[in-house]
Amino acid sequence: MKQKMRVVVASGNAHKIAEIADILTDCEIISMKDAGFEGDIEENGASFKENALIKARTVSLALGVPALADDSGLCVDALGGAPGIYSARYSGGGDADNRAKLLKELEGRPDRRAHFACAVCLYLPDGRALFGEGSTHGRILFEERGERGFGYDSLFLSDDLNMSFGEASEEQKNGVSHRFRALKALKERL
Ligand code: IMP
Repeated sequence: MKQKMRVVVASGNAHKIAEIADILTDCEIISMKDAGFEGDIEENGASFKENALIKARTVSLALGVPALADDSGLCVDALGGAPGIYSARYSGGGDADNRAKLLKELEGRPDRRAHFACAVCLYLPDGRALFGEGSTHGRILFEERGERGFGYDSLFLSDDLNMSFGEASEEQKNGVSHRFRALKALKERL
């Protein structure tokens, strides 16, 4: 049997790590915490791609192993692409506060078009960096629907699924998600 490549995921988000493990089934996925990486990583890049590189490189250089990072966010047309790379820290609070702020910012705006974007970077100990990018389109709902997922899932009505990511099963979301598409693009480069 072919040995699976062991890849450390440079993220503390258990949801993201589980999604990555479900998608990259031909790699052995472990979290940076389980691999012994304790430090904080400052995401000060100007794009999803730059942030993914910063995270993957930091963990790979610290542990001397292949590391994979995802940087993702929600880009809303009527808000000029915001919150974008600032999606996680949009409100200064947690996921629920971020969703509440988004609904407030969109009050009275009929254009609800939005997409999730994701860049993944696999950084190898020999200094090579491989990237994949993906997006998934939809609309921002007027109220939350569904309790699954994380982040903005319950406010995102997927064009592909015609249901919110908060209502979709893991399998359904993972079939069309920005993360899936970015990882698929990366896989093609492996
Ligand atoms: P990151 O950890 O800096 O990449 O932050 C990503 C943030 O974007 C998350 O905290 C969520 O707020 C949002 N986000 C990214 N991907 C998803 C998703 O699949 N569903 C819902 N929210 C997401």
